[in-house]
Amino acid sequence: MSADAPAVPPLERILLRLPNWLGDVLMARPALHALRAAHPGAEITACGPRGLLELVAPEALWQREEPLPGAPGLAGRLRAARFDAALVLPPSFSSAWLAFRSGARRRAGFAHEGRSPLLTDAVRRPARGDLHQSREYLRLAGTLGAPEVAVPELRIGAGAAAEATALLVRAGLDERPFAILAPGAVYGPAKRWSAERFVRLGSQLAGRGLAVLACGTAAERETCDTVAAAIGASARSLAGATTLPVQAALCGRAVVTVSNDSGLAHLAAARGGPTVVVFGSTSSAWTAPLGARVRVVQRAPVCSPCFARDCAIGYACLTAVEVAMVADAARELVA
Ligand code: SF4
Repeated sequence: MSADAPAVPPLERILLRLPNWLGDVLMARPALHALRAAHPGAEITACGPRGLLELVAPEALWQREEPLPGAPGLAGRLRAARFDAALVLPPSFSSAWLAFRSGARRRAGFAHEGRSPLLTDAVRRPARGDLHQSREYLRLAGTLGAPEVAVPELRIGAGAAAEATALLVRAGLDERPFAILAPGAVYGPAKRWSAERFVRLGSQLAGRGLAVLACGTAAERETCDTVAAAIGASARSLAGATTLPVQAALCGRAVVTVSNDSGLAHLAAARGGPTVVVFGSTSSAWTAPLGARVRVVQRAPVCSPCFARDCAIGYACLTAVEVAMVADAARELVA
Protein backbone atom coordinates (compact mmCIF):
# COMPACT_ATOMS: atom_id res chain seq x y z
CA MET A 1 0.00 0.00 0.00
CA SER A 2 1.38 3.42 -0.92
CA ALA A 3 2.24 6.12 1.61
CA ASP A 4 -0.75 8.05 0.25
CA ALA A 5 -3.19 5.31 1.21
CA PRO A 6 -3.22 4.71 4.97
CA ALA A 7 -5.08 1.66 6.26
CA VAL A 8 -8.76 2.54 6.57
CA PRO A 9 -11.43 0.10 7.82
CA PRO A 10 -13.82 -0.95 5.04
CA LEU A 11 -16.37 1.76 4.32
CA GLU A 12 -19.99 0.74 3.75
CA ARG A 13 -21.55 3.90 2.36
CA ILE A 14 -19.60 6.51 0.40
CA LEU A 15 -20.69 9.78 -1.17
CA LEU A 16 -18.66 10.59 -4.27
CA ARG A 17 -18.93 14.17 -5.49
CA LEU A 18 -17.69 14.15 -9.09
CA PRO A 19 -15.94 17.12 -10.73
CA ASN A 20 -18.13 19.38 -12.85
CA TRP A 21 -16.11 19.31 -16.07
CA LEU A 22 -15.57 16.54 -18.59
CA GLY A 23 -11.78 16.70 -18.56
CA ASP A 24 -11.65 16.76 -14.77
CA VAL A 25 -13.91 13.72 -14.46
CA LEU A 26 -11.74 11.76 -16.87
CA MET A 27 -8.59 12.79 -14.98
CA ALA A 28 -10.36 11.60 -11.82
CA ARG A 29 -10.87 8.07 -13.21
CA PRO A 30 -7.74 6.68 -11.47
CA ALA A 31 -9.15 7.92 -8.15
CA LEU A 32 -12.62 6.56 -8.92
CA HIS A 33 -11.25 3.12 -9.78
CA ALA A 34 -8.99 3.21 -6.71
CA LEU A 35 -11.95 3.97 -4.45
CA ARG A 36 -14.06 1.17 -5.96
CA ALA A 37 -11.21 -1.34 -5.63
CA ALA A 38 -10.39 -0.36 -2.05
CA HIS A 39 -14.00 -0.67 -0.87
CA PRO A 40 -15.58 -3.33 -3.09
CA GLY A 41 -18.50 -3.91 -0.73
CA ALA A 42 -19.40 -0.26 -0.27
CA GLU A 43 -22.56 1.31 -1.62
CA ILE A 44 -21.27 4.37 -3.48
CA THR A 45 -23.56 7.26 -4.38
CA ALA A 46 -22.18 9.45 -7.16
CA CYS A 47 -23.33 13.05 -7.27
CA GLY A 48 -22.51 15.23 -10.27
CA PRO A 49 -23.71 16.67 -13.58
CA ARG A 50 -26.17 14.32 -15.29
CA GLY A 51 -24.20 14.06 -18.55
CA LEU A 52 -21.01 13.06 -16.72
CA LEU A 53 -22.84 10.44 -14.65
CA GLU A 54 -24.24 9.02 -17.88
CA LEU A 55 -20.79 8.93 -19.49
CA VAL A 56 -19.05 7.04 -16.67
CA ALA A 57 -22.00 4.79 -15.70
CA PRO A 58 -20.86 1.81 -17.86
CA GLU A 59 -17.77 1.52 -15.65
CA ALA A 60 -19.99 0.31 -12.78
CA LEU A 61 -18.08 2.32 -10.18
CA TRP A 62 -21.16 3.23 -8.12
CA GLN A 63 -24.65 1.92 -7.36
CA ARG A 64 -26.65 5.11 -6.90
CA GLU A 65 -26.70 8.47 -8.66
CA GLU A 66 -27.79 11.95 -7.62
CA PRO A 67 -27.70 14.20 -10.70
CA LEU A 68 -26.92 17.89 -10.31
CA PRO A 69 -28.53 20.33 -10.20
CA GLY A 70 -30.23 18.30 -7.52
CA ALA A 71 -33.89 17.48 -7.37
CA PRO A 72 -35.69 18.99 -4.35
CA GLY A 73 -34.73 17.30 -1.08
CA LEU A 74 -31.18 16.39 -2.15
CA ALA A 75 -29.54 17.25 1.18
CA GLY A 76 -32.19 15.30 3.09
CA ARG A 77 -31.76 12.24 0.89
CA LEU A 78 -28.01 12.37 1.36
CA ARG A 79 -28.40 12.71 5.14
CA ALA A 80 -30.72 9.71 5.21
CA ALA A 81 -28.06 7.61 3.49
CA ARG A 82 -25.81 7.93 6.59
CA PHE A 83 -22.52 8.00 4.70
CA ASP A 84 -19.34 6.80 6.37
CA ALA A 85 -17.31 9.06 4.11
CA ALA A 86 -17.52 11.61 1.31
CA LEU A 87 -14.89 12.09 -1.37
CA VAL A 88 -15.24 15.66 -2.64
CA LEU A 89 -13.35 16.13 -5.92
CA PRO A 90 -14.33 19.71 -6.94
CA PRO A 91 -12.49 22.52 -5.13
CA SER A 92 -15.64 24.62 -4.71
CA PHE A 93 -17.20 25.78 -1.47
CA SER A 94 -20.61 24.44 -2.50
CA SER A 95 -19.34 20.89 -2.96
CA ALA A 96 -17.75 20.87 0.50
CA TRP A 97 -20.91 22.40 1.95
CA LEU A 98 -23.06 19.64 0.42
CA ALA A 99 -20.76 16.98 1.88
CA PHE A 100 -20.94 18.68 5.27
CA ARG A 101 -24.73 18.83 5.13
CA SER A 102 -24.86 15.14 4.16
CA GLY A 103 -23.51 14.33 7.64
CA ALA A 104 -20.83 12.01 6.26
CA ARG A 105 -18.50 11.15 9.13
CA ARG A 106 -15.36 11.70 7.07
CA ARG A 107 -15.15 14.31 4.34
CA ALA A 108 -12.04 14.38 2.15
CA GLY A 109 -11.39 17.26 -0.23
CA PHE A 110 -8.85 19.86 -1.28
CA ALA A 111 -8.02 22.41 1.39
CA HIS A 112 -9.10 25.91 0.55
CA GLU A 113 -9.76 29.01 2.48
CA GLY A 114 -13.37 29.06 3.60
CA ARG A 115 -14.12 25.39 3.05
CA SER A 116 -11.43 23.52 5.00
CA PRO A 117 -13.46 23.69 8.26
CA LEU A 118 -16.20 21.76 6.44
CA LEU A 119 -13.82 18.86 5.77
CA THR A 120 -12.31 16.29 8.13
CA ASP A 121 -9.50 15.50 5.67
CA ALA A 122 -8.48 18.76 3.98
CA VAL A 123 -5.61 17.96 1.63
CA ARG A 124 -3.30 20.75 0.57
CA ARG A 125 -3.00 21.07 -3.19
CA PRO A 126 0.49 21.56 -4.70
CA ALA A 127 1.21 24.47 -7.04
CA ARG A 128 -0.44 23.99 -10.43
CA GLY A 129 1.63 21.63 -12.54
CA ASP A 130 3.85 20.24 -9.77
CA LEU A 131 1.70 17.12 -9.86
CA HIS A 132 -0.62 15.85 -12.59
CA GLN A 133 -4.23 16.54 -11.67
CA SER A 134 -5.01 12.82 -11.72
CA ARG A 135 -2.43 12.34 -8.96
CA GLU A 136 -3.95 15.17 -6.95
CA TYR A 137 -7.25 13.28 -7.05
CA LEU A 138 -5.45 10.06 -6.12
CA ARG A 139 -4.05 11.80 -3.05
CA LEU A 140 -7.59 12.59 -1.98
CA ALA A 141 -8.73 9.01 -2.56
CA GLY A 142 -5.67 7.86 -0.63
CA THR A 143 -6.97 9.50 2.54
CA LEU A 144 -9.88 7.04 2.34
CA GLY A 145 -7.51 4.07 2.02
CA ALA A 146 -7.63 3.83 -1.77
CA PRO A 147 -4.21 3.16 -3.36
CA GLU A 148 -3.64 3.44 -7.09
CA VAL A 149 -4.86 0.60 -9.32
CA ALA A 150 -4.67 -0.04 -13.07
CA VAL A 151 -7.26 1.91 -15.05
CA PRO A 152 -8.87 0.38 -18.15
CA GLU A 153 -9.98 2.29 -21.23
CA LEU A 154 -13.25 4.10 -20.75
CA ARG A 155 -16.14 1.76 -21.48
CA ILE A 156 -19.15 2.72 -23.51
CA GLY A 157 -22.56 1.07 -23.56
CA ALA A 158 -23.99 -0.86 -26.50
CA GLY A 159 -26.58 1.87 -27.05
CA ALA A 160 -23.94 4.54 -27.56
CA ALA A 161 -22.01 2.33 -29.96
CA ALA A 162 -25.16 1.71 -32.01
CA GLU A 163 -26.02 5.42 -32.06
CA ALA A 164 -22.52 6.24 -33.28
CA THR A 165 -22.90 3.73 -36.10
CA ALA A 166 -26.27 5.22 -37.06
CA LEU A 167 -24.79 8.71 -37.05
CA LEU A 168 -21.96 7.66 -39.37
CA VAL A 169 -24.44 5.98 -41.72
CA ARG A 170 -26.59 9.11 -41.83
CA ALA A 171 -23.48 11.14 -42.62
CA GLY A 172 -22.63 8.77 -45.46
CA LEU A 173 -19.42 7.65 -43.75
CA ASP A 174 -20.27 4.22 -42.40
CA GLU A 175 -17.39 2.35 -44.09
CA ARG A 176 -14.87 5.14 -44.38
CA PRO A 177 -11.96 5.65 -41.93
CA PHE A 178 -12.14 9.07 -40.34
CA ALA A 179 -10.23 11.57 -38.27
CA ILE A 180 -11.79 13.83 -35.65
CA LEU A 181 -10.87 17.49 -35.30
CA ALA A 182 -11.96 19.42 -32.21
CA PRO A 183 -11.26 23.09 -32.95
CA GLY A 184 -13.23 24.53 -30.01
CA ALA A 185 -12.41 25.09 -26.36
CA VAL A 186 -15.00 26.60 -24.04
CA TYR A 187 -12.25 27.97 -21.79
CA GLY A 188 -11.33 30.78 -24.20
CA PRO A 189 -9.15 31.79 -27.16
CA ALA A 190 -5.89 31.13 -25.29
CA LYS A 191 -6.68 27.43 -25.65
CA ARG A 192 -7.77 27.60 -29.30
CA TRP A 193 -5.33 26.82 -32.08
CA SER A 194 -6.54 28.76 -35.10
CA ALA A 195 -9.44 27.40 -37.15
CA GLU A 196 -7.42 28.15 -40.27
CA ARG A 197 -4.68 25.74 -39.12
CA PHE A 198 -7.26 23.09 -38.30
CA VAL A 199 -8.52 23.51 -41.87
CA ARG A 200 -5.03 23.05 -43.33
CA LEU A 201 -4.47 19.99 -41.18
CA GLY A 202 -7.90 18.57 -42.03
CA SER A 203 -7.24 19.10 -45.74
CA GLN A 204 -4.01 17.10 -45.43
CA LEU A 205 -5.85 14.27 -43.66
CA ALA A 206 -8.57 14.32 -46.32
CA GLY A 207 -5.87 14.16 -48.98
CA ARG A 208 -4.70 10.91 -47.38
CA GLY A 209 -8.15 9.39 -47.83
CA LEU A 210 -9.67 10.08 -44.43
CA ALA A 211 -13.07 11.56 -43.82
CA VAL A 212 -12.93 14.38 -41.27
CA LEU A 213 -15.44 14.97 -38.48
CA ALA A 214 -15.33 18.41 -36.87
CA CYS A 215 -16.70 17.78 -33.38
CA GLY A 216 -17.59 19.86 -30.37
CA THR A 217 -20.45 21.22 -28.34
CA ALA A 218 -23.44 23.13 -29.67
CA ALA A 219 -21.66 26.33 -28.60
CA GLU A 220 -18.79 25.42 -30.93
CA ARG A 221 -21.05 24.77 -33.93
CA GLU A 222 -20.05 27.89 -35.85
CA THR A 223 -16.34 27.04 -35.64
CA CYS A 224 -16.91 23.37 -36.50
CA ASP A 225 -19.20 24.24 -39.41
CA THR A 226 -16.64 26.70 -40.76
CA VAL A 227 -13.78 24.19 -40.49
CA ALA A 228 -15.78 21.38 -42.12
CA ALA A 229 -17.00 23.61 -44.95
CA ALA A 230 -13.48 24.84 -45.70
CA ILE A 231 -12.08 21.29 -45.80
CA GLY A 232 -14.72 20.32 -48.34
CA ALA A 233 -16.70 17.26 -49.34
CA SER A 234 -14.74 14.86 -47.11
CA ALA A 235 -15.69 16.71 -43.94
CA ARG A 236 -18.80 16.88 -41.77
CA SER A 237 -19.58 19.03 -38.76
CA LEU A 238 -21.11 17.10 -35.86
CA ALA A 239 -20.97 19.90 -33.29
CA GLY A 240 -23.86 19.57 -30.88
CA ALA A 241 -25.09 16.40 -32.60
CA THR A 242 -23.84 13.84 -30.07
CA THR A 243 -24.20 12.95 -26.43
CA LEU A 244 -20.97 12.38 -24.53
CA PRO A 245 -21.26 8.55 -24.75
CA VAL A 246 -21.82 8.76 -28.53
CA GLN A 247 -18.89 11.15 -28.89
CA ALA A 248 -16.80 8.70 -26.87
CA ALA A 249 -17.83 5.91 -29.21
CA LEU A 250 -16.79 7.98 -32.22
CA CYS A 251 -13.45 8.86 -30.62
CA GLY A 252 -12.78 5.16 -30.05
CA ARG A 253 -13.19 4.50 -33.78
CA ALA A 254 -11.26 7.47 -35.16
CA VAL A 255 -7.94 6.88 -36.89
CA VAL A 256 -6.74 9.93 -34.97
CA THR A 257 -8.27 12.77 -32.95
CA VAL A 258 -6.63 16.19 -33.05
CA SER A 259 -7.95 18.54 -30.41
CA ASN A 260 -7.31 21.66 -28.47
CA ASP A 261 -6.79 21.20 -24.73
CA SER A 262 -10.47 20.52 -24.15
CA GLY A 263 -12.77 17.85 -22.75
CA LEU A 264 -12.92 16.12 -26.11
CA ALA A 265 -9.16 15.48 -26.01
CA HIS A 266 -9.59 13.77 -22.64
CA LEU A 267 -12.47 11.73 -24.04
CA ALA A 268 -10.47 10.48 -27.03
CA ALA A 269 -7.49 9.66 -24.81
CA ALA A 270 -9.64 7.80 -22.29
CA ARG A 271 -11.05 5.65 -25.10
CA GLY A 272 -7.49 4.69 -26.03
CA GLY A 273 -7.59 6.35 -29.44
CA PRO A 274 -4.55 8.10 -30.96
CA THR A 275 -4.91 11.64 -29.65
CA VAL A 276 -2.90 14.74 -30.52
CA VAL A 277 -3.48 17.71 -28.22
CA VAL A 278 -2.43 21.29 -28.89
CA PHE A 279 -1.73 23.18 -25.66
CA GLY A 280 -1.80 26.97 -25.37
CA SER A 281 -1.85 28.94 -22.15
CA THR A 282 -2.22 26.00 -19.78
CA SER A 283 0.11 23.38 -18.31
CA SER A 284 0.40 19.99 -19.97
CA ALA A 285 2.33 18.80 -16.92
CA TRP A 286 -0.85 19.40 -14.93
CA THR A 287 -3.66 18.42 -17.26
CA ALA A 288 -2.40 16.41 -20.24
CA PRO A 289 -5.06 13.83 -21.15
CA LEU A 290 -4.53 10.34 -19.75
CA GLY A 291 -4.16 7.59 -22.28
CA ALA A 292 -1.74 5.14 -23.82
CA ARG A 293 -1.66 6.92 -27.20
CA VAL A 294 -1.48 10.64 -26.47
CA ARG A 295 0.89 13.18 -27.97
CA VAL A 296 1.02 16.75 -26.64
CA VAL A 297 2.19 19.50 -28.99
CA GLN A 298 3.20 22.57 -27.02
CA ARG A 299 5.69 25.32 -27.74
CA ALA A 300 5.73 27.17 -24.46
CA PRO A 301 7.21 30.70 -24.44
CA VAL A 302 8.65 32.14 -21.22
CA CYS A 303 5.23 33.49 -20.24
CA SER A 304 3.75 29.95 -20.24
CA PRO A 305 1.78 28.63 -18.51
CA CYS A 306 -0.23 31.72 -17.67
CA PHE A 307 -3.62 29.94 -17.48
CA ALA A 308 -5.25 32.98 -19.07
CA ARG A 309 -8.36 32.72 -21.21
CA ASP A 310 -7.29 35.62 -23.47
CA CYS A 311 -3.87 36.94 -24.36
CA ALA A 312 -2.72 40.56 -24.48
CA ILE A 313 0.56 39.79 -26.27
CA GLY A 314 -0.49 37.83 -29.35
CA TYR A 315 -0.96 34.17 -28.39
CA ALA A 316 2.67 33.23 -29.08
CA CYS A 317 2.11 29.87 -27.37
CA LEU A 318 -0.43 28.95 -30.07
CA THR A 319 1.03 30.65 -33.14
CA ALA A 320 4.32 28.79 -32.53
CA VAL A 321 2.54 25.49 -33.13
CA GLU A 322 2.83 24.92 -36.88
CA VAL A 323 0.55 22.67 -38.90
CA ALA A 324 3.53 20.46 -39.79
CA MET A 325 4.27 19.79 -36.09
CA VAL A 326 0.74 18.58 -35.46
CA ALA A 327 0.61 16.60 -38.71
CA ASP A 328 3.93 14.91 -37.86
CA ALA A 329 2.69 14.05 -34.36
CA ALA A 330 -0.47 12.52 -35.81
CA ARG A 331 1.47 10.54 -38.40
CA GLU A 332 3.94 9.19 -35.83
CA LEU A 333 1.18 8.28 -33.42
CA VAL A 334 -0.84 6.40 -35.99
CA ALA A 335 2.21 4.66 -37.42
S1 SF4 B 1 0.72 35.21 -22.06
FE1 SF4 B 1 2.01 33.67 -23.07
S2 SF4 B 1 1.26 31.68 -22.37
FE2 SF4 B 1 -0.31 33.22 -21.89
S3 SF4 B 1 -1.72 33.13 -23.65
FE3 SF4 B 1 -0.22 34.77 -24.07
S4 SF4 B 1 1.45 33.78 -25.24
FE4 SF4 B 1 0.21 32.15 -24.30
